[in-house]
Amino acid sequence: MSTVDRYLAPDVLTQDADERWLSPGVVDVIDGRIDAVGRPEEVPDRPHATVHQLSGMLLPGFVNAHAHSPMVLLRGAGEGLPVDRWLTEVMWPREGRLSPDDIGWGMRLGAAEMLAGGITTSSEMYFRPQVMADAAREVGLRALVAPPLLVSEGLDALGTWEQQLEAAVAFAAAHRDDPLIDGVIGPHAAYTVPEVPLREAGRIAAAEGLLLHLHVAEGEHEGDRIRARHGVSVPRYLEQLGVLEARVVAAHGVWLDDDDIGVFARHGVAVAHCPVSNGKHASGLAPVTALRAAGVPVAIATDGPASHDRLDVFAEMRAAIHLARLRERDASVLGPVDALRMVTSEAARAIGRDDLGAIAVGRRADLVLVDTRRLRPVVEPRDLLTHLVWSGTPESVRAVWVEGRQVVADGEVTTIDVQRAAAEVTARARRLAARA
Ligand SMILES: [Zn+2]
Repeated sequence: MSTVDRYLAPDVLTQDADERWLSPGVVDVIDGRIDAVGRPEEVPDRPHATVHQLSGMLLPGFVNAHAHSPMVLLRGAGEGLPVDRWLTEVMWPREGRLSPDDIGWGMRLGAAEMLAGGITTSSEMYFRPQVMADAAREVGLRALVAPPLLVSEGLDALGTWEQQLEAAVAFAAAHRDDPLIDGVIGPHAAYTVPEVPLREAGRIAAAEGLLLHLHVAEGEHEGDRIRARHGVSVPRYLEQLGVLEARVVAAHGVWLDDDDIGVFARHGVAVAHCPVSNGKHASGLAPVTALRAAGVPVAIATDGPASHDRLDVFAEMRAAIHLARLRERDASVLGPVDALRMVTSEAARAIGRDDLGAIAVGRRADLVLVDTRRLRPVVEPRDLLTHLVWSGTPESVRAVWVEGRQVVADGEVTTIDVQRAAAEVTARARRLAARA
């Protein structure tokens, strides 16, 4: 017989369609799924439930729609360089020396940092998908893993593009019934993947029903080569190649005009907005307000920890609000509740996972408990949400469950030895840097 865990909290933000906020609220979990949600008088009696009385606010786990978490190994490197030099002079040489164990330790530490800050799902693009999956599972993080499809001289070790795609499809097939890991097709970007493999990646993703995750229009001149060769913007080019027939998440999406936004809206493309990274690399101010007004789901994502540098959803939400308001010169755009949605229900929709991002019956039991004692003063009940976004930090997160399994207690990750992972990452980061 399945066991029932019953969580009682003074406040439960459900983030479902009507954004119900229960105070107090009850959440029942059976076999990793949410089985009942409501006020205490609304939920069925469960005499055999294990009851957990919590203090604080229970939220849906945060969904990080774009990350390269093993880059904790490269955090802080190349500070202040323009993005092309940052990549070619610092990131790629060090990444060329990464061993599978380096990636495993980087992912463990990245996953631990994310869980400790309330991120329960991360959509990752990085090398060695099985190493990524094993590390995520060990730490208890839910992960979507896209091995980056890259076609370039010097990257022969990745194999031909046909081999890379075949391996990505096989990885996805092997994890089709995995409760924690999903395989994703990840052509790196239109400017790094030639026409034929890009078209094929889109065809395969659509045919197999797999998510397709790629970088789009991060830098101002990223699309110049495509425009010179094909006479159209990157979104139009992707549309012409048929890539947008798949379910697509476009990371960054900074340099998009109204026509591009219309292309995304027509094809159901979602955007993973990375405001801190976009600020650090001076990439630009993404048209978040226009995208959302056009019906494009926009998730707020951390990008890699060499670009953020914290895997901190709270800082990311604030940056998203700051940049959207500065871009529009309007303090009324993108409020705290919008930002919260963009790391929960809207982010889940962006990555095609309607079973995540809300505390609702039938959804996965990915839950975050936040300490609300320092979120004050609460004059109106809604102040709590405003404070959570403007003043919350990863340290506000006290407990986290993924698929019903508790992975953070008293603010600490309980699944791995985080100090050991940090020591491994430091030693490996020094080795990677020393031979630069
Ligand atoms: Zn990225």
